Amino acid sequence: LQVIEGESLRKKLHNTILELKGNIRVFCRVRPLLPDDGPAADMVVSFPSSTEALGRGIELAQSGQKYSFSFDRVFNQEASQEDVFTEISQLVQSALDGYKVCIFAYGQTGSGKTYTMVGRPGLPELKGLIPRSLEQIFLVSQSLKDQGWKYTMQASVLEIYNETIRDLLAPTENPGKKYNIIHDANGKNTYVPDLTIVDVCGADEISTLLQRAAQSRSVGRTQMNEQSSRSHFVFTLRISGINENTEQQVQGVLNLIDLAGSERLSKSGATGDRLNETKAINKSLSCLSDVIFALAKKDDHVPFRNSKLTTLLQPCLGGDSKTLMFVNISPDPTSTGESLCSLRFASRVNSCEIGIPRRQT
Ligand code: ADP
Repeated sequence: LQVIEGESLRKKLHNTILELKGNIRVFCRVRPLLPDDGPAADMVVSFPSSTEALGRGIELAQSGQKYSFSFDRVFNQEASQEDVFTEISQLVQSALDGYKVCIFAYGQTGSGKTYTMVGRPGLPELKGLIPRSLEQIFLVSQSLKDQGWKYTMQASVLEIYNETIRDLLAPTENPGKKYNIIHDANGKNTYVPDLTIVDVCGADEISTLLQRAAQSRSVGRTQMNEQSSRSHFVFTLRISGINENTEQQVQGVLNLIDLAGSERLSKSGATGDRLNETKAINKSLSCLSDVIFALAKKDDHVPFRNSKLTTLLQPCLGGDSKTLMFVNISPDPTSTGESLCSLRFASRVNSCEIGIPRRQT
């Protein structure tokens, strides 16, 4: 009889619960207070310590009221990048088994989305989910060689800014270039013609690609975060595997998406072009939630085509795909209103189980 230590038993049970729950999960991560945030004494975020809520509950205080939420997993300020990755590594690995996987980071600007997804460049222990996921994929794909598996992988990186696609790996900047999204004949894949696709053979190449993409990524300025990212950042790894012994084939996709800041118009302090930009971001985030909720309700009509992001990701949302949404929360007392909005949105997503829709439009 295998004796399972407490911690691994907890993880095993947790993973079993997640498997049973369906194919959309929501994890919440609260970043630490930063020097520019309000005073720590005014901290509005807390974590219930009861046995059933431990690691899954979060509470937010606003105007004398306490709001409680529960997710598949809640990471507090002390969670390291490695802690977070450990919880998603199995999901990432399922792309090698042929699953279509989407991992999103959702939250207001400055809540820690980019830190979670990309991490701090140049500091290996602070690497985010994208580099860690790719390292793991390469490691596991190598270890499967013994069982006859041979994998090829292709990466692309794009951003969607104001409903316009930009190729972040394009060798030369081509500002006027228009990229369209094409669905293949059986509707199982989407393609962006002329998008730069790079064959990748190892994790080292990925970090160079990420650096290239980060340089190209458009950044804007709002009152909230000087370097705020105003675009959705979509990293896609397409994986083709063939087993030379059994001739079995798999086609998996891993999409890692750093969404644009979800702040409301009033909070962003945006005017002019920035106002239009914020409106476009809010519209495309609301299209994403419309799609998730329509899939969850098994609606006849799923409004994939209402935004570039959902059009692009259509084959990877619904069906037997796997989706994880991180809701990133800032503990800054001045962000309570935004945090409450993010938590409410995320808890609606958390109650969804994505099934196969009858008709996709
Ligand atoms: P966003 O992408 O949501 O706009 P960032 O990822 O840029 O937010 O995070 C805002 C700031 O908070 C950055 O300085 C980042 O380094 C810091 N930060 C975010 N999350 C963490 C964390 N878990 N630990 C330490 N610092 C963090």
